[in-house]
Amino acid sequence: MIPREFEYHAPTSVDDALALLGAYGGEAKLLAGGHSLLPMMKLRFADPAHLIDLNRIDSLRGIQLSGNEIRIGAMTCENDLIWSPVLNEHCPLLVEGARLISDPQVRYRGTLGGDISHGDPGNDHPAIMLCLGASFVLKNQAGERVVPADGFFLGTYATALEPDEILTEIRIPVPAAGTGWCYSKLKRKTGDFATAAAAVLIRMNGNVVADVSITLTNLGNTALKARDAEQFLRGRVLDDTTLDEAAGKAMAICEPVEDLRGSVEYKLAMAGEMTRRALRTAAARVKH
Ligand SMILES: Cc1cc2nc3c(=O)[nH]c(=O)nc-3n(C[C@H](O)[C@H](O)[C@H](O)COP(=O)(O)OP(=O)(O)OC[C@H]3O[C@@H](n4cnc5c(N)ncnc54)[C@H](O)[C@@H]3O)c2cc1C
Repeated sequence: MIPREFEYHAPTSVDDALALLGAYGGEAKLLAGGHSLLPMMKLRFADPAHLIDLNRIDSLRGIQLSGNEIRIGAMTCENDLIWSPVLNEHCPLLVEGARLISDPQVRYRGTLGGDISHGDPGNDHPAIMLCLGASFVLKNQAGERVVPADGFFLGTYATALEPDEILTEIRIPVPAAGTGWCYSKLKRKTGDFATAAAAVLIRMNGNVVADVSITLTNLGNTALKARDAEQFLRGRVLDDTTLDEAAGKAMAICEPVEDLRGSVEYKLAMAGEMTRRALRTAAARVKH
């Protein structure tokens, strides 16, 4: 199918984009990399009368270290995340996750902000953002609000973004020095979405877990935070028994649906396996 006719707008500032969004409201859609929106338009799941292209707004791109926080413009593409010296030094979890997204074509156009705003539980950044404790700057014509990732993802293709808001910036607290990290993603082939994936950040006190964050991709209608598994591991030695127990607690919160990527039983088993692998790898990367 081809999309319905639409009017194309190419503002060069956030204020101009917000004015257009204010004027056209529910009739408008923001265009970032287009890798999720255009397929939706071709299938007529989305049929905006106005398309507001954010690609000419330079202020929405860039990665900066600001005190103890990393600030990333929403229009920063996956490839720029992968090659960022700031992220490679201070937030390798995000680099590892971005490397596992699709193929080079998608990574050169697809943006961090678009991946988050789309609200697809199959996308990788929601779980990574949840794991990192990120927050999102949402602007409308009246001002801005800062919303934590924990609570932003409301359901499949549903987020806390209001129709008159633009996600302008992603803020990530810099993980403490020595923190171990891992994004473990199972996919059927290069370029595919996750069958199951787990993101982990971990701090160790010797061989005892001091703190841990565990989140999951494509195992429910949003990215999931495995709070029981985290709570269980804090203060415990990480060994085969505790890894299995934590994996079981992570599996218990998953509600995958059967599709071409596998049955419910298979996906649950893979949720456990990705959790175990991510925990093991992250712990091995801790710098004491
Ligand atoms: C073949 C293929 C494989 C893929 N595999 C993966 C994968 O493995 N993992 C993964 O995470 N993703 C994957 N994707 C999705 C890809 O990462 C998309 O780029 C991403 O989902 C959307 O980002 P975008 O910049 O293309 O946004 P767009 O498609 O332009 O927009 C997506 C939605 O977000 C809204 N939006 C965009 N930017 C903003 C903003 N700043 N503020 C408010 N709303 C905004 C748009 O209006 C639209 O509703 C894949 C895509 C393809 C085509």
